[in-house]
Amino acid sequence: MSAVASIAQPPAPVVFVDRDGTLIEEPADAQVDSLSKVRFMPGVFAALSELTRHGYKLVMVTNQDGLGGQAYPRTVFEEVQEFVLNAFSSQGIFFDAVLVCPHTASDGCACRKPRTQLVDRYLGTREVDLVASAVVGDRETDLELARNLALRGLRIQRGGTPGACRSCSRDVVISPGRRRRPPFRCA
Ligand SMILES: [Mg+2]
Ligand SMILES: [Zn+2]
Repeated sequence: MSAVASIAQPPAPVVFVDRDGTLIEEPADAQVDSLSKVRFMPGVFAALSELTRHGYKLVMVTNQDGLGGQAYPRTVFEEVQEFVLNAFSSQGIFFDAVLVCPHTASDGCACRKPRTQLVDRYLGTREVDLVASAVVGDRETDLELARNLALRGLRIQRGGTPGACRSCSRDVVISPGRRRRPPFRCA
């Protein structure tokens, strides 16, 4: 092995990002079960590009209630999901992993946010800079997931308007930052 090959890359930080209400708008009935319901959140392409440029990996973590059941067939989810992922990849935005809980709250599974099983499994396969990592979402359960993982949690307000920082209540924006420093700040 050459000396160059033996130099380890520092672990990259990860932004664990929710889908509905965060990357795309969540409709009133809470289920994005047709392409006509897909609306990207304002600024989301620029924000994710910026995170990618600053060395962040992106991991999508989403609860999809009852996925695979009669009311929400897998083909319906996949059509929307493929459209969303293609739109991001066309802009150079790629997800290192997409983690989906298909259960409902009453199933009592170990993978539904704010439970950590999906992320724990991901972390078991990667070296991650946890200090610089964050969970971003629009619901209290996303922030609870962050707490359960001992990661920073940032809330995006539903409906496409800026969210608020949990600790100071000021708006959260995603802004440029130096490499190794999270490009998040309170406005
Ligand atoms: Mg959400
Ligand atoms: Zn689950």
